[in-house]
Amino acid sequence: MLTRRQLLKGGMAALVLNLLPLGDAQGQRARIIRRGRADRPQVALTFDDLWDEFYALRVGQILYDRGVQATFFPAGRAIRANIERPTFAHQHLYRRLREMGHEFGNHTLTHPDITDLSAHRLIWWEINPWQEALEEALGEPYATVAFRPPLGIVTDALYDAILRTGNLPIALWSADLRDTLCAPQDCSMAILSLFERSLANGHIYLQHTVRATAEVLDTQLDRLEAAGLEPVPLSTLIAALDEPDPTPTDGA
Ligand SMILES: [Zn+2]
Repeated sequence: MLTRRQLLKGGMAALVLNLLPLGDAQGQRARIIRRGRADRPQVALTFDDLWDEFYALRVGQILYDRGVQATFFPAGRAIRANIERPTFAHQHLYRRLREMGHEFGNHTLTHPDITDLSAHRLIWWEINPWQEALEEALGEPYATVAFRPPLGIVTDALYDAILRTGNLPIALWSADLRDTLCAPQDCSMAILSLFERSLANGHIYLQHTVRATAEVLDTQLDRLEAAGLEPVPLSTLIAALDEPDPTPTDGA
């Protein structure tokens, strides 16, 4: 059994399988988002998994202190753990992140490799139980902003499952800052160097709630500011994709 880290090292990140249309009755198909608009100076910071409650809260707080709202994709089991056995002083983590203005996306209950999972399994064992866990943690209904498959794996069964569970956008990313793969001694430099190479309109950055990211986040926000890029929640970046292109106003 491969661990997630081994899978990632094996180059399986962002593996996209079977990108064929589903051919269902309405001809509908779940939508894949990899990036925002190229004509707007906006980017989205996204943080996955939330296994470590200390760094999840830390990341949320750093962003909040800088007036930035971001998007978190916790695994459902991480949410359940916070409900059932929270880290000391980290009770109600999800309500606290919500109160800071952050938003949430579905990242499955158990964070599996979904390559061989059926739509039924995805819906009843992963997608719906995630939503139930989040709403229990928040104490209220929640309109989830997107779905992100673990390791970025997209299958026909996933398209099917997404269409049958509210048709959330499938949110991948355009810049993976590889914060769980860097060597401890130069993690900050490695993350920042990847980040600086991807300072451009519309990027969706993939990070995790780990120490390395918590350590560089303030500097990242400085770099965004210097580059004139505004970090917005992923839902804002996605909504902007549907807005009409700016029309020239001259010549009237
Ligand atoms: Zn993940």
